[in-house]
Amino acid sequence: MHMYLALDGMSLFKSIGVRRACRKAPPCKSPCKSPCTLALSLFPALLLLLGAFLSQPSFGASSSPDTQAARVERVESRIKRINAGEFDQFEIHGFKRFSAPDKAKLTQWVKVGVNATRDTLGVYPSRLIFHLVPKKSNQPVPWAYTRRDTPQRIYLHVDSRFQQDKFINDWTIYHEISHLAIPYLGSRYAWLAEGFASFMQYQVMAKAGILAGTTEHNYTKKIAPHLKWFNSDLPPASIARRLMSNKQYPAAYWGSAYFFILADNILQEQHNTQLTTLISQYQFCCNEPHASAEQLMSDLDGLLGASVFTPLLESFESSPARQLYPEDFPKQADLTRK
Ligand SMILES: [Zn+2]
Repeated sequence: MHMYLALDGMSLFKSIGVRRACRKAPPCKSPCKSPCTLALSLFPALLLLLGAFLSQPSFGASSSPDTQAARVERVESRIKRINAGEFDQFEIHGFKRFSAPDKAKLTQWVKVGVNATRDTLGVYPSRLIFHLVPKKSNQPVPWAYTRRDTPQRIYLHVDSRFQQDKFINDWTIYHEISHLAIPYLGSRYAWLAEGFASFMQYQVMAKAGILAGTTEHNYTKKIAPHLKWFNSDLPPASIARRLMSNKQYPAAYWGSAYFFILADNILQEQHNTQLTTLISQYQFCCNEPHASAEQLMSDLDGLLGASVFTPLLESFESSPARQLYPEDFPKQADLTRK
């Protein structure tokens, strides 16, 4: 039953084009009307199906009639707000400290970042808000972070002396926007959140045609130097937490990205979908500013109609890392199945 509903849900998402409706638009000044109108015309059918879909007993860690009703109501509200173009525009703050030419250059960069990320990860259920801070450096974006309060915000420290293509080819903005495609998971799962954003930054860049080399090559290059930490009987989650607390961030981030490479491989090999597709559906129904890691895993399994994420996280919490990670990647490693 789960598979049937999940497949129906996916085909419905595709056929009505809800995700496609506005994603090319930002920062359009007026809402994109025609495709959204199409989505609106199929709105009752979508709600009916999502109502059945969201009320599956396995969907969500604590399914109750109230929770199901709230979820259906949230999807309904999101469709209306997407159709109204509410999330199409993004905001950039901090321009007072930049010259007019730099302002134009940075606006174009953020626009490319938003469009590319939405193209891969779907419409975000909130307006994206950026804060730019000038910072002299030897790279265009030396420092960036997200603040997961209300509203959520992305802070980008930038050296505006760099040319526009250097900004566009820098991974940082894709990484930061990717963070907001899933909830804030709390400090105990910061490793998982960083693994997610690190995995997604290259997915976004590859689809936008701005990644040098293949995703496989880039993942291999980033992860291979840190495999030594995971050649251990300790579970990956505790290794990643220790790496985070020791401020060994590249090892923590890229070691954790392997969680999503494994998940994506399972989705492609066994479920005829991929993680980016599932996340764009997740954004539509379920993405909230805060949730537990267990809830996120449960929601993704619910959307998929199969148990993939929950058991994978359990393995990362309890199985020896050496059982999940290779000792090394062979030359020309094929990390992903695409
Ligand atoms: Zn990050």
